[in-house]
Amino acid sequence: MKKMKGKVIIFSAPSGSGKSTIVRHILELYPDMEFSVSATSRPPRGEEVHGREYYFISNEEFSRRVEAGEFVEWEQVYAGRCYGTLKSEIERIWAKGHVVIFDVDVKGGVNLKNYFGDDAFSVFIKAPSIEELRRRLVLRGTDTPEAIEERVAKASEEMTWQDKFDFVLVNDDLQTAYAEAEKAVAAFLGK
Ligand code: ADP
Ligand code: 5GP
Repeated sequence: MKKMKGKVIIFSAPSGSGKSTIVRHILELYPDMEFSVSATSRPPRGEEVHGREYYFISNEEFSRRVEAGEFVEWEQVYAGRCYGTLKSEIERIWAKGHVVIFDVDVKGGVNLKNYFGDDAFSVFIKAPSIEELRRRLVLRGTDTPEAIEERVAKASEEMTWQDKFDFVLVNDDLQTAYAEAEKAVAAFLGK
């Protein structure tokens, strides 16, 4: 894959911090920006649609595509559940001249920033506290109590990676967070 074809914006955060909410908001503002749909071996939840939120594939297919070198990066984010960015997805978006926007876990965000270098702008989003993070996951209502505890436990470790990002955004009041994200993205894109 040719590496430097366009700009990419990376949003990473411990699960429940509000990253998907903020990414959706930014996407509404930029018609020439496109969400990088990751592949995952976890099953769809709620209203998720194959090819929109994720490409849902089996663990076997995931392994086969890792072996074939089809991923820019991938992680086993939770036990038995892999997530990764397909090279074909970046090519699909760049072919249209669009900016790629990522919603990936913290390690994936660091790996993508290393891969794309100055063509990437990486943002770490964090909730004001771990208690607030847990509260948001409970209110979201998409995960079992066990999955919520797994995500919260992981968050403390993920917080130690925030210095590796270009920008750290505390998502306390959502409207303020939207405004800060908009400003940072506009500055990076020169718009
Ligand atoms: P992530 O993508 O980081 O896992 P989500 O965007 O799904 O997080 O947000 C987790 C939950 O918290 C959602 O139910 C969302 O509506 C809610 N949420 C997001 N931002 C805020 C905020 N600033 N204050 C309160 N709740 C929020
Ligand atoms: P969820 O199961 O809540 O959709 O996602 C779990 C975590 O996996 C989130 O932190 C999400 O950002 C992350 N994730 C989604 N796609 C990718 C990807 O392509 N690569 C990596 N490393 N993480 C991803």
